[in-house]
Amino acid sequence: MGRSAQLVQSHWIDGDWRLSEAVEGIDVLDPSDESLLAIVPAGTPGDARRAAQGARGALPRWAATPLKQRIAFVERLAGRLADRADELAEVITAEVGAPVTVARQAQVGLAIAMTASFADLAAGFAFEQRVGNSLVLKEPAGVVAAITPWNVPLLLALQKVVPALLAGCTVVHKPSELTPLHAYLLAEITAECGLPPGVFNVVVGTGEGAGADLVRSPHVDLVSLTGSVRAGRQVASMAAGRVKRVHLELGGKNASVVLEDADLRPAVAATVDQMCFNSGQACLQWSRLLVPADRHDEAAELAAGLAGSYRVGDPRDPSTDLGPLISDQARERVRGYIRGGVEEGARLLAGGGGAPEGCERGFFVRPTVFSGVRDTMTIAKEEIFGPVLSIMPYRDEEEALRIADDTAYGLHGAVWSADLDRAQAFARRMRVGQVDINGGPFNVLAPFGGVKQSGIGRECGLEGLAEFCETKSLQLPLEVAEPVGPRLRAHAI
Ligand code: NAD
Repeated sequence: MGRSAQLVQSHWIDGDWRLSEAVEGIDVLDPSDESLLAIVPAGTPGDARRAAQGARGALPRWAATPLKQRIAFVERLAGRLADRADELAEVITAEVGAPVTVARQAQVGLAIAMTASFADLAAGFAFEQRVGNSLVLKEPAGVVAAITPWNVPLLLALQKVVPALLAGCTVVHKPSELTPLHAYLLAEITAECGLPPGVFNVVVGTGEGAGADLVRSPHVDLVSLTGSVRAGRQVASMAAGRVKRVHLELGGKNASVVLEDADLRPAVAATVDQMCFNSGQACLQWSRLLVPADRHDEAAELAAGLAGSYRVGDPRDPSTDLGPLISDQARERVRGYIRGGVEEGARLLAGGGGAPEGCERGFFVRPTVFSGVRDTMTIAKEEIFGPVLSIMPYRDEEEALRIADDTAYGLHGAVWSADLDRAQAFARRMRVGQVDINGGPFNVLAPFGGVKQSGIGRECGLEGLAEFCETKSLQLPLEVAEPVGPRLRAHAI
C-alpha cells in the first residue's frame, strides 16, 4: 500500500499528550490487507491511574459548569465532527475495514446526529424536579470509564462520552485495542472545541490491562462498557469490589420474525441487508430469520439469492457492500461456526468458510445463509458476529415467540406483518430491549439496550442521559413546600 505505520507513544491525559510508561506496543492492522497501520502503547496501570486522577481533578469544576456551557460545548463538538467527517470516516475504514459508504453514514453520520440529539435532549432534561415537598436532583455520577468495542467505534464512544459530559461527569475513554486511531482524533477534536483539560481523557490498551485498571481504579465512579458478555461479566465482578455502578451494553442473537400475513420479499431482503451490515459485526444484527414453516423454502431461496449478490472486497471502493472481518481470530471464529452449522445438519445455501474471490489477503468471509436451522443448533444460539444468517421454520406464533426468546440474549429484534397492530402485539411480547416493526428505522432519540445477558441500562435518548446521573432528594419543610394535599401530608413523618 506504500503507507508508513504510525508510531504513537502517548495517551491524551489532562488536556495534553502524555508519554506512556508502556514498554509494550500494540500493532493496529488494516483488516482489509493485513498491513500495519500503527503501533500504539499498551497502557499500564500507571497510565490508567494518571488518566483517572486527571478526570477526578477536573470533576468539581466541570460538574459546576452551567448546563448551558456544557450544551454549547456539545454543539461545537457536533459541528467539528461534521467538519472532520471525511477524515474520521477514512480512519474508520482503515482500522475497522468498514466500507466507505458505511463509514460515512452509519458510523460517522449517525455519530454526529446522535451527538446533536443529546444537546437538544439535555436542554429539556429534568435535572431538578419538585415531587411533593421534595426537590429531586439529578447530579453527575462522577468519573466515568467509557470502554468501547471496535465495530462501530466512534458512535459507541460518543454514545457514552456525550451524555456523560452533559450530565457533568468527566471521562476516561478506553477504546478497543484493535481500533484506537479514531479516539486520538476525537481527543484532538474535543480540545479544538475548548473542553477544559482533564474533562475527557483517552488511554489506549488491552481490556485485561488498561481496561481492568480503570474498572478497579478508586477514582472511577461508574463504568460504562460496550462489548462481549465475557467482558461484561469480568467488569461487573471487578466493579462489585467497590459496589461501583456498571452500565453494560453487550451482545445479541436477534430474531427477525416474519408473521404469516407478511409480504415475504421485503422482509427477507431487509433481513439479509441487516445481516450483512458492517460484515455482520453489529450487536443489533438480525442473525436469525423466523418464517412460517410453509414459507420456509421460498424465504430460503430468496435469502440465498440476495446474499450471493452482495459485493465483498476493498472497503475503499464505494461499490463494496461488505469489507473484511476485524481480525484473523474473528475470521477463524466465524469459519468455525460455519463448519459447526454444517456438522449439526443445517443446509448451507450461500457463502461458506472459503475466501471470497479476489480476497486472498485480508480477513474476508462471504455472506452465508443456512436454512432448516433448529433451535438446538449452536448457530441458532450463539452470537457469531459475522455475516451468517440462520433461517428457522416455525408452526404458529406461539412457537415463533418461544424460538425468538430462546437464547441467553435479549437485545433487539424485528417483526413483519401486513397488520401493524398484530406486529405490535407480537413485539410487545418479545423479551428484548428494542424491536423494529416493518422496517422502522433506528432512532437516536429512543433508548437502546438489552435485557437478560445483553446488558444492564440504556443508551441514547433521555434514559441514556439519566444513566450518567445520580439522584438526590432534598426534603423541604412543609411550610416552604408548595401546597401538598392531605394524602402527601400524611406521608410526612
Ligand atoms: P470485547 O468484550 O472483547 O471488548 C470490548 C471492550 O472491552 C474493549 O475495549 C476491550 O479492551 C474491553 N475489555 C475486554 N475485557 C475487559 C476487562 N476484563 N476489563 C475491562 N475492559 C475489558 O468486545 P469486542 O470484540 O470489542 O466487541 C464485540 C462485542 O461487543 C459483541 O459481543 C457485540 O455484540 C458487543 N456490542 C454490543 C453493543 C451494544 O450496544 N449492546 C454494541 C456493539 C458491540
